[in-house]
Amino acid sequence: MHLALFPRVKLCQTPTPLELMPNLTKALGGPTLWIKRDDCTGIATGGNKVRKLEFLVGEALAKGATHLVTQGAVQSNHVRQTAAVAAKFGLKCTAVLEHRVQTNDKDYLQGGNVLFDNLMGLNIEHRPGGTDMQAAIEEVGARLSAEGDVPYLIPGGGSNAVGAMGYASVALELLNQANEMGLRIDHLVHATGSAGTQAGLVAGFNALNAGIPVLGIGVRLPRDKQEANVHKLAAATSAYFGGPEVPREAVVANCDYVGDGYGIPTPGMAEAVMLLARTEGVFLDPVYSGKGMAGLIDLIRRGHFKAGENVVFLHTGGQVGLFGYADYLNAAAAAA
Ligand SMILES: *Cc1c(COP(=O)(O)O)cnc(C)c1O
Repeated sequence: MHLALFPRVKLCQTPTPLELMPNLTKALGGPTLWIKRDDCTGIATGGNKVRKLEFLVGEALAKGATHLVTQGAVQSNHVRQTAAVAAKFGLKCTAVLEHRVQTNDKDYLQGGNVLFDNLMGLNIEHRPGGTDMQAAIEEVGARLSAEGDVPYLIPGGGSNAVGAMGYASVALELLNQANEMGLRIDHLVHATGSAGTQAGLVAGFNALNAGIPVLGIGVRLPRDKQEANVHKLAAATSAYFGGPEVPREAVVANCDYVGDGYGIPTPGMAEAVMLLARTEGVFLDPVYSGKGMAGLIDLIRRGHFKAGENVVFLHTGGQVGLFGYADYLNAAAAAA
């Protein structure tokens, strides 16, 4: 896995911290809990998409692109991070936002990530929930080409083989950190959505023979579909960097913590957000890492992990999204 062979721009402050969570460990009384702080990647409040954008924008610049085009839900962290990186490189940026969450909540529609998007001057187009969003960005790309721009299309979540390289690089970074600290990582747990994060980690650990099992906590699709998406992308990513075949068993997702659907808050998410804030002063997000941590907390309570095991939670960022859910979270905090 020779990452320097691929076009890349340096965006992240690395390595992101790998920290013990002593108070959360004590509060839950289970395995020893650690956190890998990819909420601290360093641009526009950070998050996991910056990792992918290092390789995506590397390729975009190598191809002479002038305009980044991507898509996501209204409160997309990926769109916010893409817009910030575009600003940094002097590229134009257009995002198509899918109204995937049915709501009239002003905070959701105008606060959080949307406020950041607007402040960055992002060109935004809106589409109703259920739109074929890949087709939507292809249409926008064709229109921009006709106008003389050189568009570079980034799929939702930056999740293709090029973007997932960002998380193959994290597999290497995390393994190096663990080796230096003398830390045996028994499990890595994180929220999985568009699949690129888990695919890159699985492909990377597989190529490095790390023996670190990855558990993705789903936020949208049922388990069979999520695992199939992750495995397909992990295989493509490994092929892209010249790595070995990725066994199907290396891909494990648990999709029991989605609740009523993507972006719809759950009591478990609110509990997880408050528990991390109150024990460690760490903020999770309402759509991904909050539900991911809700899954981890529940699995610990059910005795899924052995005493003495080291479990690392990958914090994928997204705190800005909390401001899109202020009413729900304030009510949960008042009731807690
Ligand atoms: C996008 C995102 C994820 C999920 O990562 P994927 O690569 O899309 O699976 C997790 N957490 C946050 C905060 C995100 O924005």
